[in-house]
This record gives sequence, structure tokens and C-alpha cells, in this order.
Amino acid sequence: MMKILVVNCGSSSIKYKLYEFPSKSQLSKGIIERIGEEGSKVRNHNQGIKVVINQLLGNKIIKGLEEISVVGHRVVHGGEHFREPTVINGKVIEKIKVNSDLAPLHNPANLAGIMGCKEILPETKQVAVFDTAFYQSIAQHVYMYAIPGQYYKKYGVRKYGFHGTSHQFVAGRAAELLAKPLSEVKLITCHLGNGCSITAIDKGKATDTSMGFTPLEGLMMGTRSGDIDVAAVFHIMKKEKLTVEQMGRILNRESGILGVSGVSNDIRVVKERAAGGDKLSRLALEMFIYRIKKYIGAYFMVLGGADAVCFTAGIGENNEDIVGRLKEDIYKIASPDTKVFVIPTDEELMIAGLTYELAREGSDRK
Ligand code: ADP
Repeated sequence: MMKILVVNCGSSSIKYKLYEFPSKSQLSKGIIERIGEEGSKVRNHNQGIKVVINQLLGNKIIKGLEEISVVGHRVVHGGEHFREPTVINGKVIEKIKVNSDLAPLHNPANLAGIMGCKEILPETKQVAVFDTAFYQSIAQHVYMYAIPGQYYKKYGVRKYGFHGTSHQFVAGRAAELLAKPLSEVKLITCHLGNGCSITAIDKGKATDTSMGFTPLEGLMMGTRSGDIDVAAVFHIMKKEKLTVEQMGRILNRESGILGVSGVSNDIRVVKERAAGGDKLSRLALEMFIYRIKKYIGAYFMVLGGADAVCFTAGIGENNEDIVGRLKEDIYKIASPDTKVFVIPTDEELMIAGLTYELAREGSDRK
């Protein structure tokens, strides 16, 4: 029996869950917010981890630190270094630092959580589970961009893909629902939350995904534009005399469902407005659904058919109308055996499961 602490550090938050394995029971969960913000008592992630541990002790979830067998950390960017979950040591920390260049908002926060745990739980094994690792199976002709090769060599510019842990979790559940081994099925998984991505999975391995070098590529999202002609971006920058940072903010924070509707990034609000006759909200919804349809169609071709198309995350799990429309379109082209599933995602449980496997292997070897 193992108690596994899963830690997911954002730039100003720490989400955690404590599990017991192999029963997979969740013993506790919590979130520390406003880290480093003005007026907050928690100045940094190191302190935040202390708060997490104190909550677990204070609520008598654990009696002592030694009860935590292993910590699993979500790390956003593993670059090309990490193809699977990895036990954290000095070298791994160095590589995560190197990859911070590719995920400047995320990896430093993930690292801060790792360092905090190392300090407070120095004897406890720590494991990194990377969002990008699931996509290291993607073939070179799929992950390369059609630009001069030197930019890949110099700066690692290529498709990496994100949300891997969620897609991997949903794929596992889909195989269970199909009552077939994961190694025998073709799946298209659609993670539709604030961030949105679609992945084509063949025999348990990702073969393509809609997000790219950053999470900006692909579907239209809550506030991200998704695919756009880069020349249009140059044009806007030139006309509005914008810096790279300003344009980046527009594409990442002010576009997508929010940018088109002019109302909200929240699909519930936009649907309500659309139902009331608001034209831009209607347009935002049509665009959102159309893009998903286009990628699903492409991935049917990439995979040569699919056993199931799966929908997950806030939008995918809770909007029967949107999923229903896509389902109709899927049934028009798919084989009669193709299933459409709505599967609630659980990234923390997936991280706990992967961490458990690695910790168990380690203790078997001893
Ligand atoms: P994140 O990517 O930040 O984890 P979520 O997966 O929670 O976000 O997805 C957020 C999106 O899901 C929002 O557009 C929100 O409107 C939608 N959503 C969440 N819950 C519901 C619900 N009960 N009904 C309809 N839409 C929902």
C-alpha cells in the first residue's frame, strides 16, 4: 500500500491530491491560491508546499511525513528529453530547467514545487510526469514544421503537444469501455476545456495532436485563437505597431471564444447569449464546433478510421448539444461500429497511477 501525493503547481497556485494505491482511493485534495500575490501569506511555492503538508497533518489525513511514499509532479514541458514519467534527480532538474525556455510560464512553477517538496520531504522519492511525454511517439514528418531546418536544430522549434496526461487517461478508459486492449484500438480524443486539443491515438500511442510548439496551435479555445495564417499576425502587428509580447497576449488571452463573441470565454455564457439572438456569440459557437469537426475528420484519415471518438473536460463533459451535433456528423462518415464516448478526465489520478508504477518498479528492483 502506498500513499501518493500528486502536486500540480501553476504560476500562482498549487493543486494537490493524496491517493492510496493500489486501491486508487482519494484521501484528500486541496488548492493553495494567490501564491506570491500582494497581501498573500504564501510568498512562494516552497512555503505553499509547507502549507499543503500542514493541511494534511492538521486534518489528520497523515500522522507523519514518512507516510507519503512518493510525490508525483505535473511538469508541463519535457521537450525531447522525456518520453515517460521519470524519477527526479539532479540531472532531471537541470533538464527541466533547460526546457523552461520552451514553457516560461509553466516549467519554473513546476520546478519550484519540486524544490519545495525536496526540501520538506528530502527522503521521499519524487516523480515528474510530463504533459508532452505522451507525444514523443509522434513521427518526425508529423512533428516538423515546414520551415528551414536550422530553427529546429537551434531552438527546438517543432510540434510537442500538450494535455498528454488527459488524453492518455481518456484513451485508457475508452479501451475499457470498448472491452479491448488499448494496443488494439484507434481513438480520437477531444479535450475541450478552457484549453482545447484533439489527439489521434493508434494502439495506445499518439500519432498526431492539434497543439504544437506551444498550446496556441489547433482548435479555437476559450481565449486562444488556435490555427491562424501567420501572415495575418504580421499584418496586425505592423498596422497596430505591436510588440511580440502584445501580440502574444492577444492571441493567447484575448482571442478564441472570448475574442469572437466579445462576451466571455465561458461557453455557458456564450450559449446563453447565442440563444438570445446575439450574432457574435452564435458565430463563436459555429466556429468552435466547425474547427473540432475539421480536426476529427482529419484524424479519421490519419488513423484510417477510429473505434471511438471521445469527448472530455469542461465543455466535452457537460454540453450535450455541442457533442450531439458532432456525433451526428461523425455518424455520417464513420463505420457503424465507431462509438462516441463522453469520458470525464482525471489528470491527477493518471499522474498518481504513472507515479505508482514507477515507484513500484523501483522498490521491486531493490
Ligand atoms: P480548464 O481547461 O481551465 O481546466 P475546464 O475543463 O473546466 O477548464 O473547462 C472550462 C469550460 O467548460 C468553460 O467553457 C465552461 O463553460 C465549460 N463548463 C464547465 N462546467 C460546465 C457545465 N456544468 N456546463 C456547461 N459547461 C461547462
